[in-house]
Amino acid sequence: MKKTRHTRQRGIILDILHDTKTHPTAEAIYRDARRIIPNISLGTVYRNLGFLQGQGLVREIRPADGGSTRFDGEMAAHAHFHCLNCGALFDVPLPQGFEQPSCSDAEGIARISAIDLHLIGSCAGCAEPEMALTH
Ligand SMILES: [Zn+2]
Ligand SMILES: [Zn+2]
Repeated sequence: MKKTRHTRQRGIILDILHDTKTHPTAEAIYRDARRIIPNISLGTVYRNLGFLQGQGLVREIRPADGGSTRFDGEMAAHAHFHCLNCGALFDVPLPQGFEQPSCSDAEGIARISAIDLHLIGSCAGCAEPEMALTH
């Protein structure tokens, strides 16, 4: 049945996202999904990611360097760190005060439904030794 196949594809894509912390691109998810479903297409992966996003099970991350969109299956509130050198993208805890955003002091906001906070810089593996010494 059509529905069952679609449900299975979505389940596999969600499993791939839950099994990694790298925030893969759709292409990387596609490569992993093909090991399980050899005839899956990249278009199908994109459609399923869009569906899962609509269901609030997956979120899309736009990298700071303008590269390919990355995907995240971790929906608990957290911030993302982007390394501009190697493209690493990893989870960091939200700074204090961000867990419970307040809109009482901001004009024009009726309701906050999500937080999308990005920290941008160099990861520990990429930091230049000279820069580390001068600062
Ligand atoms: Zn890096
Ligand atoms: Zn994340």
